Amino acid sequence: MSSYFNGVVVRSAGARPAVEELRLPEIGPGQVRVRIHAAGVCHSDLSMSNGTVRSPYPLVVGHEAAGEVVEAGEHVTRAAVGDHVVLNWQPPCRECWFCDNGEPWLCATSSGVAALENGVTLDDAPVHVSLGLGAFADYVVAPANAVIRVPSELPYEKAALLGCGVLTGTGAVRNTARVAPGESVVVIGLGGVGLSVVAAARAAGASAVIAVDVSEAKQGLAEAAGATDFVVSSEALSKEIRVRTSGRGADHAIECVGRATTIRAAWRATRRGGKVTVVGMGSNDDLVQLSALDIFSSSRTLRSSVYGAADFDTEVPRLAADVLAGTLSIDHLISDRITLADVPDAFDRMARGEGARSVVHL
Ligand SMILES: [Zn+2]
Ligand SMILES: [Zn+2]
Repeated sequence: MSSYFNGVVVRSAGARPAVEELRLPEIGPGQVRVRIHAAGVCHSDLSMSNGTVRSPYPLVVGHEAAGEVVEAGEHVTRAAVGDHVVLNWQPPCRECWFCDNGEPWLCATSSGVAALENGVTLDDAPVHVSLGLGAFADYVVAPANAVIRVPSELPYEKAALLGCGVLTGTGAVRNTARVAPGESVVVIGLGGVGLSVVAAARAAGASAVIAVDVSEAKQGLAEAAGATDFVVSSEALSKEIRVRTSGRGADHAIECVGRATTIRAAWRATRRGGKVTVVGMGSNDDLVQLSALDIFSSSRTLRSSVYGAADFDTEVPRLAADVLAGTLSIDHLISDRITLADVPDAFDRMARGEGARSVVHL
């Protein structure tokens, strides 16, 4: 066993996370140890912390991260000591039917892994790492296919965001919704993912990008990301959208919250034949009601976009190149730079719907 380091641990569903000392096992063949340098606070971390998404505890949270490889096990060829890497919380096996079929984001072996047991706490109790990573910590030990190399010129805080929010948001627009120039797009929920969706929709040539949030305070962030319109969510949302889309409703609605009410709002915001893309991860007992007649007569499409429906290994390096070339701006996504000890406060801000991404610097 290696020596102790710090990580943010949740002891039980809804308990306040706290920095604890942790120890990880020695790396085995095919594994790497990564010194984490930056990690973004994503909504799924909050969901696993408060029990919206069921997890075993104690749990080290954090999964949107970048760092430096400090140790590489036998047979590891993807990355070497000293490489800067972005972490993948759903590394594909490259052997199953889905991977062979060009859908590695739906990999049969890695999908649905909420947490793995890895390492121990100071009192020698086994600890779980969220999404196989547990990245709000100084170190992560992961299989080598959970890392992808990025250029060392890319700042760690930007690299971190590529690993979840930016890949998910841009992928939802490019790969799932396939927004075309001139189309109108409604984006519901303006956290890190929603703001990435706004920017990607604008970059795809959407004529209208209507950003929607419950908080009026998000207007500035939405406009910085490229929204053409901002609407505070209310009962009258579908009317407000129709006013802005020649009375028809939008071509696309992209839901970045993961709740039945906002999925229904997205459904109603689109035109006949429109496309609804669900990006938010919701809970198992939150049921979306749609009438059978409405499903038929509206001719809408309802799809989800998992992890941007993207091949992480090719798209993350591409996004990194875009950021370095200045063709993809993600600076506006970072609203707070924090330490591990500030993660609970960042969760509170997120729960109140404030700000964009908080990024932990380690
Ligand atoms: Zn995430
Ligand atoms: Zn697979």
